[in-house]
Amino acid sequence: MLDGVTPWPAALAAGYRERGYWRGENLSDLLREWSRTYGDRIALVHADRRISYAGLDQQVDRMAAGFRRRGIAAGDRVVVQLPNVPEFVIVCFALFRMGAKPVFALLAHRANEIRHLCALSGAVGYVVQGTYRGFDYAALAADTMAESPALEQVFVVDGLAGAEGFVPLAEVDAQPEPLVSPDPSDVAFFLLSGGTTALPKLIPRTHDDYAYQTRIAAELVGLSAEDTYLAALPVEFNFAWGCPGVIGTLRAGGTVVLAADADPDECFEAIERERVTFTSLVPTVAQLWLDAVEAAPFGSSSLRLIQIGGAPLQREIAERISPAFDCQLQQVFGMAEGMISFTLETDPAETVLSTQGRPISPGDEIRIVDEADADLPPGSTGELLVRGPYTLQGYYRAPEHNARAFTEDGYYRSGDLARLTPTGELVIEGRIKDVIIRGGNKISAAEVEGHLLTHPAVDRVAVVAIPDLFLGERICAYVRPVDEPPTLQTLRDALHDLGIADYKLPDRLEIVTDLPLTGLGKVDKKFLAKDAAAKADTLQKD
Ligand code: AMP
Repeated sequence: MLDGVTPWPAALAAGYRERGYWRGENLSDLLREWSRTYGDRIALVHADRRISYAGLDQQVDRMAAGFRRRGIAAGDRVVVQLPNVPEFVIVCFALFRMGAKPVFALLAHRANEIRHLCALSGAVGYVVQGTYRGFDYAALAADTMAESPALEQVFVVDGLAGAEGFVPLAEVDAQPEPLVSPDPSDVAFFLLSGGTTALPKLIPRTHDDYAYQTRIAAELVGLSAEDTYLAALPVEFNFAWGCPGVIGTLRAGGTVVLAADADPDECFEAIERERVTFTSLVPTVAQLWLDAVEAAPFGSSSLRLIQIGGAPLQREIAERISPAFDCQLQQVFGMAEGMISFTLETDPAETVLSTQGRPISPGDEIRIVDEADADLPPGSTGELLVRGPYTLQGYYRAPEHNARAFTEDGYYRSGDLARLTPTGELVIEGRIKDVIIRGGNKISAAEVEGHLLTHPAVDRVAVVAIPDLFLGERICAYVRPVDEPPTLQTLRDALHDLGIADYKLPDRLEIVTDLPLTGLGKVDKKFLAKDAAAKADTLQKD
């Protein structure tokens, strides 16, 4: 096991194996097995590219050998920042095959985030698309390389040989060679936390745990080789990658269609062309799709299931999904840290519309607790604590944070407020963590506050969510200026220039003479959140 990773306690791990959750599978050998079973069937579709299972496995073999040839070793971390293209899947499996660990960056990340991910993971490699949608990722990589001592090589998907240390991905290619299979209990890759601390944390996901998550998720949605999944959300999101998403579809022998983004025109065209049977959306995207489909309904839809999750789903949106798309709705509550819950096809309509379903594994242990960690009576709302065969036991290299984020017996404090219905479904009622969910993106208030404080015009700052009809929430910054109040645009420009991803920039600025404090002398965020909600209707929409 990689240094800096907290393993499951031996007794829990033994139980997960005994009960057959962990079967000693690794994702690399699984691909080999799928290739043998599904051979010429189509695994991946992207625009006019179609890659079979056998073809995928062969490309992965060659790329794994190529990475080794170029000095990447088992255990090394490699930051992967790619759009929804087949290379995302090929690169990740090639790294799995040779025991290196992809670190999933978001496509929206910029210099500030990538530098942090490289430093935290100690990455020796970074995989990017040269330019994409007008953004120069190769230039971002060059800057990152200059500031990240461990980073030795940048692999560029559409790149030509150029600066030192830059390698076109096409040249990461060598004759396949026998490789040692990765240990199933070792880390396969790292997801990012949408967490509360100033900088994102790394979530180690093991082969065993992710193989299990994708297996059980695929079983619960009844996936078969006849299914076609549309990856409309970024594949680096756990939701699209493995709930059951890309990996779950591949293990069932189905086809994954990679969409450039969730734009309804492009996605509807792909659904009709590829006879897509299921997809997963965040509520904001679902709303866009509903408006589009209600304006111009499909001829006959191949869709059988739309999963919606990642952020609170309004009842009004939930009710419109099945009639508009003539398919089943599934509510999903999930977290990159692990635990997932689903509503099921067999659930009564009311359950599907008003709850986030039941945890997908019998091994998921959940507790609903008060502020003193005491279990609350059934039906009460409290913080959701989770433990189980695919829920982490600690963030990577974060011992101090882990001491707060987990109970002594290894339950993860989700920071979500939840209750259980009498029939055992979870209902997410809110959050106690200081996180803003803007569309599909999670933003740590502490992080944005930290960036704003570096601006010379800002003396004090507090960042809270402001409700928004379309995105669910936006970012509202309350600022006490040093002297002359800054404008929203000045602050946004300053953060942008610091290399901070655009989705984290404040949407609204409130200038105050002082921040309200609680009796304990902390900034009264509840008061500010209420104030922001009252002002919400005046918010200028983008
Ligand atoms: P992430 O790790 O980025 O997937 O974010 C996980 C967090 O998203 C959870 O802890 C919740 O705060 C939020 N979340 C996910 N699914 C839902 C949902 N169905 N309803 C409300 N919040 C959700």
